[in-house]
Amino acid sequence: MSWADPCRYIERILVEESCLADDYCQAILGRASLPWTVFPDDEPPLHQEEDATWKTAKKILALRRYKGRFFKPCPGTKEYRCCGYHVLATGFNCPMDCVYCILQSYLNQPWLSVFINTSDLLAELSAVLASGKPMRVGSGEFTDSLALDRITHLSRILVPLFARHDNAVLELKTKSAVVDNLADLEHNGHTTIAWSLNSPEVMRRQELRAATLAERLAAARKCADWGYRLAFHFDPLIFYPGWQEGYRHTIAALFNAVPAAAIAWISLGALRFPPPLKEIALSRFPQTAIYRHEFIDGLDGIRRYFRPHRVELYQFIYQELQRFVSPDTCVYFCMESDEIWREVMGFSPEERGGLAAMLDRAAFPDWPA
Ligand code: SF4
Repeated sequence: MSWADPCRYIERILVEESCLADDYCQAILGRASLPWTVFPDDEPPLHQEEDATWKTAKKILALRRYKGRFFKPCPGTKEYRCCGYHVLATGFNCPMDCVYCILQSYLNQPWLSVFINTSDLLAELSAVLASGKPMRVGSGEFTDSLALDRITHLSRILVPLFARHDNAVLELKTKSAVVDNLADLEHNGHTTIAWSLNSPEVMRRQELRAATLAERLAAARKCADWGYRLAFHFDPLIFYPGWQEGYRHTIAALFNAVPAAAIAWISLGALRFPPPLKEIALSRFPQTAIYRHEFIDGLDGIRRYFRPHRVELYQFIYQELQRFVSPDTCVYFCMESDEIWREVMGFSPEERGGLAAMLDRAAFPDWPA
């Protein structure tokens, strides 16, 4: 069965009472054609006594208002190089189920949420973007950017907004192949469509209900044909017997599917996790072997492979990428130290103006240096 559109997994919808009159909410209900019920304002969509384990709750979508700030700087740490990204909260959780998903330890609500007060989101976003400062913004930190797009059509709201702001680039990051809404949008080069990629083995065993490699790359090819710039995230890179062959295969398939010149950036990140995540993931996926390895607690409290092991992974992937990648593509590490940068790439971000500046140059190629 194909999970190119993971939204098919959802079985029912819960609607916060005051959202019912909202046109956007009604449009989602109409497109979803699923049974729905109403829950009172300011109460959780499901109560403890209801069956709300992670497995069952991923079939349930709550449409509700978000009362927090939609737009925030990405919470990097001072110990590792961070990229100056901003995150946009459009909802929580997604219908796919990755063994390593950090949201399992981050969210205390296992059901999916989509925030329907998009007018508040757009007002906040427009005010921030009016500053004129260059900004890279992603909506894929607390959810998958496109997994629910068939019913939310959120891309059709966000992409035209970013098209009107020369100082802003939106990154829509996904493991799905849901791209039909992007076909006819005026994006003006201000939206980059990004895919998380991994070896076929990791995708098959650790990324449940996600699109296959072939499906992701076919969708990426369509987006390149529609003039979008692309990005890819090899994250999390995971050791397993035969990992070199697996990652080599994915990299060759990537450059066979899309033109190298269309790729704005590629990130590399080895498996890392807050310590409580391991227990949560093992209780949900006892058959997984990804935590059967030696790890070290980093300065930021996050558990990582030992440094020589990370370097081994990165050197292999980086060298494979070098066979195909365009000199204009920014290849970077997500949350790694200067020592790792120098050991693998031969320079530290500071020598090129800093990681944020490197990515800004990739995101805004037409801006004066
Ligand atoms: S696709 Fe992303 S948000 Fe969804 S389960 Fe996987 S890691 Fe988590």
